Formats: sequence, C-alpha cells, structure tokens
Amino acid sequence: MCSTRKILLLFLILSFSIGLYAWRGFYSLEPSTLQTTRADSLTGFDILKYTVDLRIDDVNQYIEGSVEALVLAEDELSQMQYRLEGGNLAVTSVLVNGAVSAFTHEAGIISIPLQMSSGAEFSTKVYYQGNPGNSPSPYNIGLKFTPFSFYTLSNPDAGRFYMPTYDHPWDKALIEWRLTVREDWLAAANGIRQSITDNGDGTRTHHWISQFPVATYVMGFAAAPYIEFHQQAGEIPIQNFVLPSQLANAQVDFANVPRMIAYFSEIFGPYPFEKYGHMVVNMSTYAAMEHQTMTTFGAQYLDGQQGYESIVAHELAHQWYGNYLTPITMREVWLKECFATYSEALWVHHNEGWEAAKAYLKESIQDYYITWEDRNGPRTIFNPEYNMMFAPPTYEKSASVLHMLRLKMGDAAFFPFIRALLTTYPNGNINTAEFIALAQAHSGLDLTQFFNQWIYSPGVPNAEVCVFHNGSTQAKVYARSISPPPPTLNWIYPSHCLD
Ligand SMILES: [Zn+2]
Repeated sequence: MCSTRKILLLFLILSFSIGLYAWRGFYSLEPSTLQTTRADSLTGFDILKYTVDLRIDDVNQYIEGSVEALVLAEDELSQMQYRLEGGNLAVTSVLVNGAVSAFTHEAGIISIPLQMSSGAEFSTKVYYQGNPGNSPSPYNIGLKFTPFSFYTLSNPDAGRFYMPTYDHPWDKALIEWRLTVREDWLAAANGIRQSITDNGDGTRTHHWISQFPVATYVMGFAAAPYIEFHQQAGEIPIQNFVLPSQLANAQVDFANVPRMIAYFSEIFGPYPFEKYGHMVVNMSTYAAMEHQTMTTFGAQYLDGQQGYESIVAHELAHQWYGNYLTPITMREVWLKECFATYSEALWVHHNEGWEAAKAYLKESIQDYYITWEDRNGPRTIFNPEYNMMFAPPTYEKSASVLHMLRLKMGDAAFFPFIRALLTTYPNGNINTAEFIALAQAHSGLDLTQFFNQWIYSPGVPNAEVCVFHNGSTQAKVYARSISPPPPTLNWIYPSHCLD
C-alpha cells in the first residue's frame, strides 16, 4: 500500500512518527526572530502604564479624553512617539510631566520632543478627540460602534485607532480605564472594576484597573445596556456582561468556565490574573477575542446549548498562553494560537473523554487544516503574511504541531515543559527560538529538524509509506519523505515505490 500526506498525519497522530524525515539539513532556515528577547530595550524606553480617560458618545460615535503614559527611559531620550490614526482624531494638547509640551501629529505618528536621561521615569499625557476610524483591510477594527453597543478590537495592532499607543506585543504595560458612557449602559474592561460614578449629566464613569501588565492587543473594553452575572472559580471571580435577552443562553454556555479554569490551572499552572469574564457583543470580525481577564465574545456563538464551547475554552486558555506569556512579535503568533487551539481538544478530553478528543483532533483540527491547505496551498507557520496572521496555519496547523510535539516528548516531559514556559517568562514575552530551546532542555531531544519542517517550512512534510505483508504474521514497512527535494535515501526500496 502506498499513500501520501494523510497517511503521514495519521501516523503522527497515532504516535508512529519515526524516521520518516530524511532530508535533514535542507531546510536550514535560520529563524529571523528578533534577537532581543526582552524587547523593551529595543526602543530605549519601556511604557509602564497607560491611564485612559475617555468620554464616548455612542450616538455621534465621538470620543474625547486623554491617555497618560508612564514611561521608563532605558536610554537617553530626545523624543517619544505614539501612534494615533484613523478617522478625524486630532490631538489638542500634550503634557510632559504635567507641563505643556510641543508636539506634532503627522501621518498617524505623535512626536513629542523631550530630554530624558537614562533611568528617568516620566509621564506624557495626550489629549485628543474626534470620530475614530477603523484599521484598513483585512481587519477593519479599532473602536467599533453598533446600534446597541461599542467595543474595541485591537488584535494585532489597532489600538492606535482609538488611543495614542505604542502598540507592539513586546511592550506590555499596566492599564487603567476611566470610561464615561451613557448612564443606562455598563462598561466592562480589563482588570477589576473600582467604581461607577454618576456624573449627573446623563453619563457614568466606569473605572477599571489591571494589576498585571497587558499587551496592547489584549487591552480592551465594551459597553452596552448590559446586565452582569457572576461565577466563581476558587479564588477567581468571573464577571460576565450580557444583554438581558442573552442571559439564559449565556448561563448555559458559560456554565463550565469554573471547571475549565480549574482544569487548565491543573495542567498549565495557576490562573495568572485577578479575574476572568466575558463581554458579549455583536461582531463579525472574530468569533471572540481574548482581552486580558475579559474575553470579548460574539453574540452569535451563544446558542444556549454549549454548541461553541470550543471558543470558550480557546479564549480562556489564552489567558495563560498569549496574555501571561506573549509572543514577542506577531511573527510568532503561532506561539499563542497553538496552545489555545490545542486547549479546545484538551478540554474535550477532560470533559468528554479521549475518544471524543481524538475525534476533535482529527476532524476539527487536522482534517480541517488539510482541507484548507488543499484549497489554499501550503503555508508556513512562522512569520505569516499580515493578512494570513489568523488563518488555519496559525491555528489548526500549529495545534497539530503542538500535539505532535507532545507525542515526541511524552507527557512526562511535555507538561512540565509547557508549565516551565510560564514560570520562565512570567508576564513576559517569548520567541520561537526560546520555545524550542526550552522544549529541547525538557525532552533531551534535538528538535531542530522537527521545527525546521513544521514551523519554518511550508505545508506538511509528505511521506510515502509502503507496507508489504507476507500473508501470515510479518510485514515490512518502507517509508520515505517525498517532499521536495527528494531526500538522500539510505535504504533500498522496492522499485515501484520509487515512482
Ligand atoms: Zn486564539
């Protein structure tokens, strides 16, 4: 019997992956990762905290307020730059350490001249107002308004479309929100709500503070005529924001979240933040988005039957992998999506058993990716094109790779490895080279070839497998890689296997 790709994948899933890869050394692609792993030092500064004070008029889709940034100068600095673009947002004034400062705002970049010596901490405060726009295609995100809500989506780099920011995953910062919205709405955001203040003018200000650093792409908020319902997972409060009409469904669809937190805490390590929750919105861009401690969840995925529980599990898992441990750039986006997507299957295993998990892995992850690749061609996981950042290679393919890595390492090494990622880089950033180094340290394996093939090369390695059976109890199996270019073969094949 001779077969190709799907046979290989089946073999891999069944843990028969041995020696099929014979072209060691051909794909000697050295990853072009940023060598600075603690990347705050890339720029000579580290933003420590943003304080966002915004009045948001949902009727006129108009925002007005300020963003104060507390910054550590890691080098001598002669200016700070933030991004603010889209719509007609205009900067009205800038303060540096409380004093009025000169500034320019051109081509979406706010430049603020200053003189800071290395080691100085200082603040900049940018006042601005206007109608925000959304990011260009393919994502069209930023601050989104709907008839009954508004909400932010910043992933991968759209924070700049509603607040002055240095929106790169490597510069995490604390975030404090003061969101002033119409008095009959609630505003939900990262962290713990401190207060709701009635301003006496038809608005209320909702004050939220995150105790932990947040990457800008997972800072976010939503507001709507919400009601809240609360859950508890041990010490962790869960605070959900839904419309009254969504409550019954949400109570069913989120019912397992406390158990999920308990399970993921068991296999990944303790839940890393101060709370969890969901804010439900009508959105079409993404199914859901893992804003830190407060996932934005698409209303169409509340069916009252737990029919989209994989999304719930996926976003929750991101709190560990993605939010607490963050890819250093979006070239490494697979480092978070592999875990979140694979966690869908881990939850199915825990909740429904191994047979259900195997079926999920095969149908929803592996077959899905193969079908996609047949239609769209092979893609490389590492460093995806901008418009392919959130496509199946980042999700289903990378989750398959993580599963194969588990099979190669064995559970005794794999689970300590994935926990060690979190303890080695707490609240930090990671690149692919660091991920590989830690996997090798925990497994004792040389994983260079594995990652070169699966992460740095396109598609999936193809194999040809020939099985000869002698009619009784013996069989011979010949296998070779047939991915281009042909490998140097060190064994003798039956001639028809060389077609
Ligand atoms: Zn995800």
